[in-house]
Amino acid sequence: MSISTVKESDAPALSLIAAHSHISGLGLDENLQPREVAQGMVGQLNARKAAGIILKMVQQGSIAGRAVLIAGPPSTGKTALAMGLSNSLGKDVPFTVLSASEIYSLELSKTEALIQAFRKSIGVRIKEETEIIEGEVVEIQIDRSLTGGHKQGKLTIKTTDMETIYELGNKMIDSLSKEKVIAGDIISIDKASGKITRLGRSYTRARDYDAMGPDVKFIQCPEGELQKKSDVVHTVSLHDIDVINSRSQGFLALFSGDTGEIRQEVRDQINIKVAEWKEEGKAEIIPGVLFIDEIHMLDIECFSFLNKALEDDFSPIVMMATNRGISQTRGTNYKTPHGLPADLLDRSIIISTSNYNANEMKTILGIRAKEEEVELSNDSLALLTKIAEETSLRYAANLISVSNQIAIKRRATTVEIQDIKKSYTLFLDARRSVQFLEQFSDQYIDDKGSVALSRSG
Ligand code: ATP
Repeated sequence: MSISTVKESDAPALSLIAAHSHISGLGLDENLQPREVAQGMVGQLNARKAAGIILKMVQQGSIAGRAVLIAGPPSTGKTALAMGLSNSLGKDVPFTVLSASEIYSLELSKTEALIQAFRKSIGVRIKEETEIIEGEVVEIQIDRSLTGGHKQGKLTIKTTDMETIYELGNKMIDSLSKEKVIAGDIISIDKASGKITRLGRSYTRARDYDAMGPDVKFIQCPEGELQKKSDVVHTVSLHDIDVINSRSQGFLALFSGDTGEIRQEVRDQINIKVAEWKEEGKAEIIPGVLFIDEIHMLDIECFSFLNKALEDDFSPIVMMATNRGISQTRGTNYKTPHGLPADLLDRSIIISTSNYNANEMKTILGIRAKEEEVELSNDSLALLTKIAEETSLRYAANLISVSNQIAIKRRATTVEIQDIKKSYTLFLDARRSVQFLEQFSDQYIDDKGSVALSRSG
C-alpha cells in the first residue's frame, strides 16, 4: 500500500513527484502575487494565486476540514500546483499524496486506506519538557526583532528560578530599551522587584560561554513570549501514533510501511489522548494537506466517506485533482460535473487550470530539459514546442529524454532537430496511436477476446 507523505521515500508517490522535480514552490512574491516564471512554475497565474491563498490558510492553521478541487484539462499543471504548495509548506506540515486508484488494494479496505491517508496528513507537534533544576544558568533567546535588530538577538539571564524567568520575561522584553540592555549582555533579575541589572557582555567570547558549564539551557521565544520550560519539539503524524500504539503492529511497521488495518478503538483512544495533550499545552495539532489525484477514480462509497471525514475534528485540507468534465460518478448510474457527487462538489472550493499558450509551453519544456540535464538546440526546443501544441505538453516533455538518448548514440552533446524527429517517429502520441489502431483494427484482439472476423474471414 502506498499512501505516503512526500517527505518519505515511497515508489509510487515518488514517480508522481519526479515529473515535478523542477518545481520548488508556487513562485509567488511576498504579497502572494504570482511571478510569471519563478520556482520552476510558469504561467497559470490565477490558479497559482488561488493556491497561494490556500497556502496562507494552511500556514495559519485556519482551514482544516476543507475540500479544494483543482479541475482542468490534462497536463495543465494540477499536480504541479499541488507540488508547489507542498514545497512551500513548513517542513513539519504534513503533505500526503495519494493517487485515487491506489486505494483499490487487496491489503486494505478502501475506507481504511482513506482513513490512513487522512491521519498521515495531520501532524502532532509534541513538546517534550525538560525540567530546569536549581542552580542552573538559563539562557533565553529572544527574537531578533525584539532587540531592535541587534546582531545576536540573544540575552543571557543568570537565574535559578523558572518562575522568575517566566514572570519577568515580558517585562524584560519591555525594558530592553529602557535599561539599555542589548543582545549578548548578561543581566540579573531581582525576583522581588523585577529589576534588571546589566552585569556586562558575555558569551560573545567563547571563553565566557564555556565558563557557564554544561547546564546552560536554551529557551526559545520566537513570538516574544517566554515559555516556561525548555522544549524539545518532535512532529509526528496521527497515523504514526496509531501505528506505534496498535498492539498488532508495533512501531517497526512504521519502517516497513506495512501497517495493515488499525482498529477503530485504537484510533479513538489516540484521539482522546491527543486532545488531552492539546488541552494541557503539551501538543499542537497541525492540519496538513492530503492531495488525492485522479479523484474521479474514487467511487460513491469513498465519496460519502470523504464527506463525513471532512467534518472530523482531526481533518486535513483535502486537495483533489481531476481532468474530467461531466462524467459518471463511479458506483452510480448518473453523470455529474467532474464525476463528483453534488454534495462533495458543493462543499469544495474549485481552482481551475487552463491550457497553456506556445510561449508558456516553450518555457516549461526548457525548464524540464535543464532539470534533466539535456542540452537542446534552439531549433529543437522550437520543434518540441510545436509538437506540444499539436499533441500534449506531457508527450513533448517525454520526448526530451528519448531524444537525448538518440543524440548520445550519435555522440552528440546537444539534441538537434533530427533527434527530435526521430523520437517523434519512433514513439507515437495518443492521437497517432488511435489512428494506427483504426487502420489495423483487424489485427488486434477486441473486448470479446477474439480477433476481428474480417481477418479470419
Ligand atoms: P493530468 O490531468 O493529466 O493528471 P495535470 O494537470 O496534473 O495533468 P501536470 O502533471 O501537473 O498536469 O503537468 C504535466 C507536466 O508539466 C509536469 O511535468 C508538470 O510539472 C509540468 N507543468 C505543468 N504545468 C506547469 C507550470 N505551470 N509550470 C511548470 N511546470 C508545469
